[in-house]
Amino acid sequence: MTARVYDRVALIGLGLIASSMGHAMKKWGLAGSIAGHAKTEATRDAALELGFCDAVFATAAEAVEGADLVVLAVPVGAMGTVAAEIAPHLKPGATVTDVGSVKQAVVEAVAPHIPEGVDFIPGHPLAGTEHSGPRSGFATLFQNRWCLLIPGDARPEAVARLRAFWEGMGANVEEMDAAHHDLVLAVTSHTPHLIAYTMVGVADHLRRVTESEIIKYSAAGFRDFTRIAASDPTMWRDVFLTNKEATLDILGRFTEELFALQRAIRMGDGDALFDYFTRTRAIRRSIIEAGQDTDAPDFGRVKVSGP
Ligand code: NAP
Repeated sequence: MTARVYDRVALIGLGLIASSMGHAMKKWGLAGSIAGHAKTEATRDAALELGFCDAVFATAAEAVEGADLVVLAVPVGAMGTVAAEIAPHLKPGATVTDVGSVKQAVVEAVAPHIPEGVDFIPGHPLAGTEHSGPRSGFATLFQNRWCLLIPGDARPEAVARLRAFWEGMGANVEEMDAAHHDLVLAVTSHTPHLIAYTMVGVADHLRRVTESEIIKYSAAGFRDFTRIAASDPTMWRDVFLTNKEATLDILGRFTEELFALQRAIRMGDGDALFDYFTRTRAIRRSIIEAGQDTDAPDFGRVKVSGP
């Protein structure tokens, strides 16, 4: 059991990420009590039944009353509305954080609502699965994964406390600014998801084949794409609407590389293909060595592929 970091934590949104945080807080004793809010009653009931919240509320405003830490774990597009609702109810000295996959848009939507005397420290745990909802969470989701914090002008002691909280859930914490975060994630997560959606979409267009062969002979490459392309549509719609510039920049570069490979194939340039694949193989090895692929046999753990 790790030491308690916050007396009262409020989780706003009770899906994959919030439920995993709730389970982790319980497992490692990081919070005195956990209050929760989600839109639907069924989700709130599930949170109580599964025991990752001690109390649930029909409104976000009620859930944040008296909370030392408020975690916004709703889709990126809903962050601003939720922040406006909770703002008058925040406890002086509280910290507000979020777990959204995009950071500049969240800062723009949330920061204007945060009252004087409350620290706003955006965050993003680089952990997830293709599943969503309150029943998909588990306590070890953040183990050995990165959590990026955007300290802005928050008080250093508030940042240190939030860092200790994430470390208590097993994450490695790094600080970064919002624009840099969005560019890095466009490369490592957002654009790859778009490519997976596209590849599965291409297969879907080839309906004659899809109906039989593609499902039947689904090989590892395509199967991995389909797993990624099964990710939550609301969440990913919001990611692309809010991280537009960085994603378009990386997509442009991707298209150039694709054309170069297309040309190498057309020209029968085996050396170019071999060199390219050798370089990409080295990147794969360094990711495994850094412990960032839990699918790899060495790590033998659950599948994790978060945005
Ligand atoms: P999720 O499983 O789909 O759950 C979303 C939750 O938000 C649900 O409990 C939903 O309530 C609630 N919600 C939606 N709109 C709301 C509103 N206006 N007011 C109150 N509650 C609302 O989502 P998730 O995967 O946990 O993602 C949450 C956040 O984490 C997103 O911002 C996402 O970008 C980020 N994130 C996701 C991953 C990942 O891999 N999934 C990884 C890192 C970060 P109902 O159930 O009642 O509809």
